[in-house]
Amino acid sequence: MKKRIVAFRRLNEQQIAQLREQFHVDYFPALNGVDDPGFREALAEAHGLVGASLKITPELLDEAPHLEAIASISVGYDNYPVDELTRRGILLCNTPDVLTETTADTGFSLIMATARRVVDLAEFVKRGDWKESIGEAQFGCDVHGKTLGMIGMGRIGAAVARRGALGFGMNILYSYASPKPELEAELGARRCEMDELLEQADFVCVTVPLTPETTHLFGAEQFARMKTSAIFINIARGKVVDERALIQALKDGQIRGAGLDVFEQEPLPSDSPLPHMANVVALPHIGSATHETRTAMAQRAVDNISLALTGERPISLVNEPAWSARAR
Ligand code: NAP
Repeated sequence: MKKRIVAFRRLNEQQIAQLREQFHVDYFPALNGVDDPGFREALAEAHGLVGASLKITPELLDEAPHLEAIASISVGYDNYPVDELTRRGILLCNTPDVLTETTADTGFSLIMATARRVVDLAEFVKRGDWKESIGEAQFGCDVHGKTLGMIGMGRIGAAVARRGALGFGMNILYSYASPKPELEAELGARRCEMDELLEQADFVCVTVPLTPETTHLFGAEQFARMKTSAIFINIARGKVVDERALIQALKDGQIRGAGLDVFEQEPLPSDSPLPHMANVVALPHIGSATHETRTAMAQRAVDNISLALTGERPISLVNEPAWSARAR
């Protein structure tokens, strides 16, 4: 008997066909949420789950007694109760590396777009407001040669820092990460306390995962420490930032602007002031969203679940202890 997989969202036809060679697959391409009755029915029989952007709770796991592995099409795994999965012996796989450079590109485009005001000035032209040579009211600020402060210096953080140091001659500070001697040698990066970083950086870019420890890592106190000329970039997770404090800091001119790919609530609620603020560039969580990278991420998830359900070690495993327990 073939093992059963429930797949949802973001997989292409070839990937579903590949899974169907080995497994019985119930596919929900446009799954709207965990309340879908067909999804719940399929989950009750499933050995594997593969998909993206769905909050998995212990209560949902109670309804999936045969589940052996989950392959998330993401590197972040804040949607999953990792300890609970490990306790139940369920492997959790993610998709690091394949999205690193693309997400760093998104981060850097937010740095450029906010500093040079690409979005609001493009709107200015579209509205027909460009009637004479532009003046100071349309000036932005330089990126090259400035100080880039990275909060988190993992795969994506290092890729953003590399762009800044090697492409734009930026000075790199980093915080909220263990020492990285190789990056310090390669990029001239310097590790410092977060307060020092906030006080010195012209651009502060957040790339830490969302964990209990990093939830609301940024609040009123942190924005108050930043330079009034500084720009805040978040390509990690919205909940790392107290959004009300960010909105207030932007309104009060405590910081110059913000480039945001992620928000406390997604999609962004219609009453959020953020997309309407001239000093904000707000994107709809597109960090990894290119054709090439999303295909590669889905393929990594397909490979992970296939390996996990055939007793082999997945390529990218979040909860190593679940695998070790299985090997014993
Ligand atoms: P990573 O390689 O694991 O890097 C995470 C960095 O954060 C590391 O420098 C790590 O420190 C540091 N860190 C600080 N506190 C931490 C904590 N409590 N737990 C774990 N790490 C902590 O991850 P990545 O691949 O760069 O991805 C980072 C995050 O970006 C993901 O978790 C995800 O939420 C987000 N992301 C967003 C998008 C998007 O679409 N906008 C796309 C991809 C990823 P050490 O260096 O000491 O380990």
